[in-house]
Amino acid sequence: MLIVMRHGATEAEIQKVVAVIKEMGYQARPMPGAQRTAVGLVGNDGRVDASRLEGLAGVQEVIHVSKPYKQVSREWKVEPTVVRLAGAGGGGGGGGVTVGGTEVVAIAGPCSVESEKQIVTAAQQVREAGAVILRGGAWKPRSSPYSFQGLGRPGLKLLARAREESGLLICTEAMDAEGVRWVTEVADIVQIGARNMQNYSLLKAAGRCGKPILLKRGLSATVTELLLSAEYILAEGNQDVILCERGIRGFDPTTRNVFDLTAIPVVHKLSHLPIIADPSHGTGLRDKVIPMARAAVAAGADGIMVEVHPDPEQALSDGAQSLFPDQFAQLMREVRVIAEVIGRRVAEPAPVGA
Ligand code: PEP
Ligand code: MN
Repeated sequence: MLIVMRHGATEAEIQKVVAVIKEMGYQARPMPGAQRTAVGLVGNDGRVDASRLEGLAGVQEVIHVSKPYKQVSREWKVEPTVVRLAGAGGGGGGGGVTVGGTEVVAIAGPCSVESEKQIVTAAQQVREAGAVILRGGAWKPRSSPYSFQGLGRPGLKLLARAREESGLLICTEAMDAEGVRWVTEVADIVQIGARNMQNYSLLKAAGRCGKPILLKRGLSATVTELLLSAEYILAEGNQDVILCERGIRGFDPTTRNVFDLTAIPVVHKLSHLPIIADPSHGTGLRDKVIPMARAAVAAGADGIMVEVHPDPEQALSDGAQSLFPDQFAQLMREVRVIAEVIGRRVAEPAPVGA
């Protein structure tokens, strides 16, 4: 439920609404907006007596959010959420990157962190091409237990090293609550993978970790389920959630997944949260990644996540969908033009030494 205050409502009137919500046993989230302040009532169990709030001074209207997800919905918050990435130390570059505003961000790097040489080289290559965030998994959720599982904590150290060398921000996956604690120490964005989209204890831990979260759509998840999973994170107090379309299971083995481009405008309509696209996992095939990345930016994606490996043929995971560095550089040249056509611009890495 959303209590919308009149334009010009006083701070005392807002605080009174907050106090009454708390007295009723719920949480209050004041949200100052460009035009007016709204106060969100969190934890509505269907027994809220709206008339008590409607009658308070300064209240314009009480809106019942009709969607099953509440804080994530456009009904709750009309303006798009802009996630500001802090740039947690390291090279200092990359601070000031935003996701969900006019900028389109590129997150790029290998599927897995494999060695210092591999990740540092990849970081330099993707930065050179124009990525502002380095990706690379230290923990890998693999379909087979016999596939490479990631380097674990030593992999995180290598990501920190790559940040020192390149100044890029870091996005890496946490697979469980313990992993969230480790990843939070190094990452600027904590990734929750497709297979864990409905791991609710992990979502709650992500909601409390204090870092922006990249939440990937589950392999067979509907958009509503994706938004409900994001709601778990916001419900814990973390508003900095970036959604990610990464393809869903289809019946046709021609591609690894069905890359659901439509999800981008659908999510933008239903939610204020930014959504990026991962055409690498979305298609599973190197030569399909490029056209789908272009299409995603044209469709309004707030960013792209692309797997790029210094030597894809030797990659320990997802080599077939990893771009060669020069292919990624060409893709970035193309998406700069596409972004401009729709009134956006691709975020550029800070100059070296900045
Ligand atoms: C990944 O990005 O490394 C990954 C495993 O992707 P997904 O969770 O989308 O399969
Ligand atoms: Mn991968």
